[in-house]
Amino acid sequence: DPSMLPYNRVLLKLSGEGLMGEQSYGIDSHVLGNIVDDIADVAASGVQVCLVVGGGNIFRGLTAAGKGMDRVQGDYAGMLATVINALMLQDAFLQRAVPACVVSALSMPTVAEPYVQKKAIEHLENGRIVIFAAGTGNPFFTTDTAATLRAKEMDCDVMLKATQVDGVYSADPRKDPAATRYDELTYGEVLSKGLNVMDATAVSLAMENSLPIIVFNMHKEQAFSRVMAGQGVFTRIV
Ligand code: UDP
Repeated sequence: DPSMLPYNRVLLKLSGEGLMGEQSYGIDSHVLGNIVDDIADVAASGVQVCLVVGGGNIFRGLTAAGKGMDRVQGDYAGMLATVINALMLQDAFLQRAVPACVVSALSMPTVAEPYVQKKAIEHLENGRIVIFAAGTGNPFFTTDTAATLRAKEMDCDVMLKATQVDGVYSADPRKDPAATRYDELTYGEVLSKGLNVMDATAVSLAMENSLPIIVFNMHKEQAFSRVMAGQGVFTRIV
């Protein structure tokens, strides 16, 4: 839908996994640098950019619960993992002299500003990239849900989910060579087909509040800049 362009304010959701590169844990600084350069270009073009980052490259509550940890404590640990990623992103922006700040859903005022809706909007209007850390601040949620929530709170035009594949497929293209990619889907189709792109909580929140979602592959050259210009390959969920 070209009438959506140009975007004024967007939210980009980065998975923790997307920061790992070829590693099995943590952050690959080369991958981080490429992503940050791409985001900085979009911000320099005048688009206000919100970021939500996951924590799956460091810790996942559900995985820990599977090994016997209390789920709620595991989820808090997972939220802290997102803060580590947020600080790494902030640092990479500031090293490039790109204004950015971390706001956290869990209170840790010496590390990040606490999340306050009006203050976050002020940061965006003042040209800062705002990195939303600690998910929603609640266990049993995901950073995809946090991304949908913050996108609505910040009145974003669209939520862009950066993944490891070129959009939403009928099956996992890394496992099933017959998988086909959708150009466009409705929220209802995502839910009824059980397409495993985002959890149902995030999809239904987007559906109830008419937040368009774009799913694209972050590992392509200048992927975010290209999608923002309506170019490249992606799936729209509306
Ligand atoms: N998490 C949570 N509440 C939230 C967001 C995240 O409890 O609102 C926890 C949860 O344990 C999750 C972990 O933080 O496994 C990391 O987030 P997520 O799995 O969404 O990261 P991603 O898969 O995007 O790297």
